[in-house]
Amino acid sequence: MKTVDFRSDTVTQPTAGMREAMAAAQLGDDVFGDDPSVNALQQAVAERLGFEAALFMPTGTQSNLCALMAHCQRGDEYIVGQFAHTYRWEGGGAAVLGSIQPQPLNHQADGSLSLADIAANIKPDDVHFARTRLLTLENTIGGKVLPLAYLAEASALAQKHGLARHLDGARLFNASVSAGGDPYAAAREITQYFDSVSVCFSKGLGAPVGSVLCGSAALIKQAKRWRKMLGGGMRQAGVLAAAAHYALDHQVARLADDHALAKRLAAGLQGLPGVTVEAPQTNIVFVDVAGVTASRAAGVIEYLKARGVLATGLYKLRFVTHLDVDEAAVDQAIAAMREYFAG
Ligand SMILES: *Cc1c(COP(=O)(O)O)cnc(C)c1O
Repeated sequence: MKTVDFRSDTVTQPTAGMREAMAAAQLGDDVFGDDPSVNALQQAVAERLGFEAALFMPTGTQSNLCALMAHCQRGDEYIVGQFAHTYRWEGGGAAVLGSIQPQPLNHQADGSLSLADIAANIKPDDVHFARTRLLTLENTIGGKVLPLAYLAEASALAQKHGLARHLDGARLFNASVSAGGDPYAAAREITQYFDSVSVCFSKGLGAPVGSVLCGSAALIKQAKRWRKMLGGGMRQAGVLAAAAHYALDHQVARLADDHALAKRLAAGLQGLPGVTVEAPQTNIVFVDVAGVTASRAAGVIEYLKARGVLATGLYKLRFVTHLDVDEAAVDQAIAAMREYFAG
C-alpha cells in the first residue's frame, strides 16, 4: 500500500528540474554578497512582487521575525490575528527576541481582522501603552484568501494611523493563483498594500528550504542585520536559492492543480454522516467531525494512517494538497474516510 501524505505542503521533494537547477547553480559566499544565484533570486522576487529589494532567508519564521524586528523597536507593538503564524506558531519570537509586544485580535469567519477591532486597538501616544507600529496580516490564512477590497481598507486604516503593514505571504501564490490570470500580476495586486511581504518557497512551491522577504531597500538593509544576528547568514546558499528560483519560474501556475485536488477531496467527503467539510478556496481542506474531541480526531488520524493516509488536526482534521499527491492519492484518502464514517 502506498502512503499518501496530506499533513502539509512542506513535505514535497524537489522535482527533477529543480535538482538540475540546484546542481548547476553558480555559487559564492552570500555573507559577502557574492552568491550570484542568491542575488538573482532576490532580484527576481523583488521585481515580480513590486518591491525595491528582497532578502533570501532560511525559513519563513526567520523572514517574519526579521521583518517584525526591522519595523518595530523594543517596546513597540504589532497588531496580529489570534491564529496568525506570526503570533501563535513562531514560539513568541517577536516578544522573546525582539521585545515587541503582540496585540492579538480574533479573526472574522473569512480569516480577516475586523477594521473596527484594529482601530480600537491602536493605542494613543501615552506612556502607559506600547507604541502601536505595525499591522501584520496573513494571506492565505487557514487556506482562505483575504479579499482585495479588504486589504485596501485595512491598508488605508493602517496608513491613516501611521502603522507599517507586513504580510505573512507564506502561501501568497496560492492566493494569487486562485484569482486566475497571471499569477505574478495577481500577486502584485495583493502585495501593493504592504510595506513588506514574506513568501515561503518550501510550501506548495516545492523547494526544500527557503523564504524571501521583500521591502524597501532601507527595510531590507535592517532585516539583513537581524538575519545575521539570528544565525541566518548562509554561505553558498545559491544551491538553495536556485531551487527557489526554479519554483518561482516553473511551479507557481501549477498550484492550480493543488486547488483542484483539494476540491476533489472536499467533494468526495461531502455528505458523509457526521462530517462537515468547508469548501476549500485553495489547497487546504478542513473537516469537522461531529461530536469531535481531540481524542476522536486523533482516533481518525490513527485509522487513516493504518490505511496509508497521513493527515493532521487537533479538533478539525486537516488535509493539504501539494506537488507530491495526485488524484489517486485523493481517492485513497476519500476511500479511507468513507470506510471510517460510513462503513
Ligand atoms: C509555514 C509558514 C510560515 C513559516 O514557516 P517555516 O516553517 O519557518 O518556514 C509562516 N507563516 C505561515 C502562514 C506558514 O504557513
